[in-house]
Amino acid sequence: MPSFDYDLLIVGGGPVGVSLALALAAQPLRIGIIELSPQQNNLDSRALALAFGSFRIMDGIGYWADIAQEATPIEHIHISNRGYFGVTRLDSTQIRLPALGYVVKIGSLTQAIYQRLKNFPQIELICPAKIIQIQNKSDYIQAQITLNNEIHTLSTQLLIAADGVHSVVRQLLQIPVYKTGYDQTAIITNIETEHPHQFTAFERFTDTGPLALLPLAKDYSNVVWTVKNSQAPYLTAISDKEFLSRLQDQFGNRLGKFIHADQRYAFPLQLIKTRQLISNRVVFIGNAAHNLHPVAGQGFNLGLRDVAALAEVLTHTHRQNKDLGNQTVLATYKQWRQWDHRIVTQFTDTLIHLFSNNYPLWGLSRGLGLATLDICPLFKKTLMRQAVGLIRRQPKLVQGLSL
Ligand SMILES: Cc1cc2nc3c(=O)[nH]c(=O)nc-3n(C[C@H](O)[C@H](O)[C@H](O)COP(=O)(O)OP(=O)(O)OC[C@H]3O[C@@H](n4cnc5c(N)ncnc54)[C@H](O)[C@@H]3O)c2cc1C
Repeated sequence: MPSFDYDLLIVGGGPVGVSLALALAAQPLRIGIIELSPQQNNLDSRALALAFGSFRIMDGIGYWADIAQEATPIEHIHISNRGYFGVTRLDSTQIRLPALGYVVKIGSLTQAIYQRLKNFPQIELICPAKIIQIQNKSDYIQAQITLNNEIHTLSTQLLIAADGVHSVVRQLLQIPVYKTGYDQTAIITNIETEHPHQFTAFERFTDTGPLALLPLAKDYSNVVWTVKNSQAPYLTAISDKEFLSRLQDQFGNRLGKFIHADQRYAFPLQLIKTRQLISNRVVFIGNAAHNLHPVAGQGFNLGLRDVAALAEVLTHTHRQNKDLGNQTVLATYKQWRQWDHRIVTQFTDTLIHLFSNNYPLWGLSRGLGLATLDICPLFKKTLMRQAVGLIRRQPKLVQGLSL
């Protein structure tokens, strides 16, 4: 086999790209991570709801222990429909798990994974660097990058695109995407509430879109409030007091009075999905493959399952001393992941179209649906197993096994 600068080159040092590098850290592989931004501490107040399957992946990779202290368990989920009857309550005891998932701040997660990366000298962070050209040489791949205003050429067996929703790798390879807008923006903040959240995540469907409250430490909750694009500038500009009062009006009094809000951030929402998950010696993972609406908190969870599947395929291939960019690696990854991508994308997209309108008849049927779900244990169990990422044949890391 010819020699390469790197066995694997990961473009994008976001949480998904770095998780893949850490998942492969036990293998004697030389891995380069090309990252654009030297500022790896995410400053927005986004919190990630992690499914139970994601907790297992992080535990298997080895960095769960680094963030466990900061993670808040989700023991109950409460789903309701503003202005209509019918709620559904999901409970971790119903599927005999200690928690349905966990909530971590994206900044804490990023800090922990970068700290852990320092333990592995064979994983090199190439930063601040930008990929500008990709050339396929049949038995390897060449990437041109700019690093400190100089152009460098790097070679690798496999290039992994983890460079986020506007993936430059995707653009350089002219890979088309499927794109749809929702005319919605997510307003994100953390709030303090009068009553304790009791480790409950709330999902409330309103006529502008879903409103989620995720439990954080010290009776704070992370708010993801989906509003129409036209409402977002106003809701980010008004005073905290006015904002809290409008939020309270949408959410109701289940957590008592809203006391304090942190800084607000706005994220315009779109579904963007690559039409090709693989190309010659290139694979797409995380948001570079699928950027979802955050309604069900699935984006990062799906990205971590990409990591678990790809890490397993690559470990197996490396142990057989085979080319890491061969067609079987690409085809196996694609076959394994495309079904999960399709199901989660359709589930998320359907939820949005079903719940983001204010036609009274739809409202009644949604209420009826939630009420029926609440009294139907089999449906509830299936929904919960899907939500925690424990359905279908899963990679070893998702099952809690080592690679
Ligand atoms: C409001 C909101 C709430 C969310 N809530 C949840 C949730 O509760 N649960 C959940 O699972 N998911 C959630 N998500 C989704 C989640 O945030 C993303 O899926 C996740 O952050 C994607 O990680 P990533 O590493 O794939 O991409 P990113 O985090 O976008 O990282 C991409 C990296 O690539 C780098 N990069 C970009 N271009 C280049 C280039 N040319 N060269 C080199 N590097 C480059 C960037 O600097 C960045 O570091 C939410 C998203 C939003 C917007």
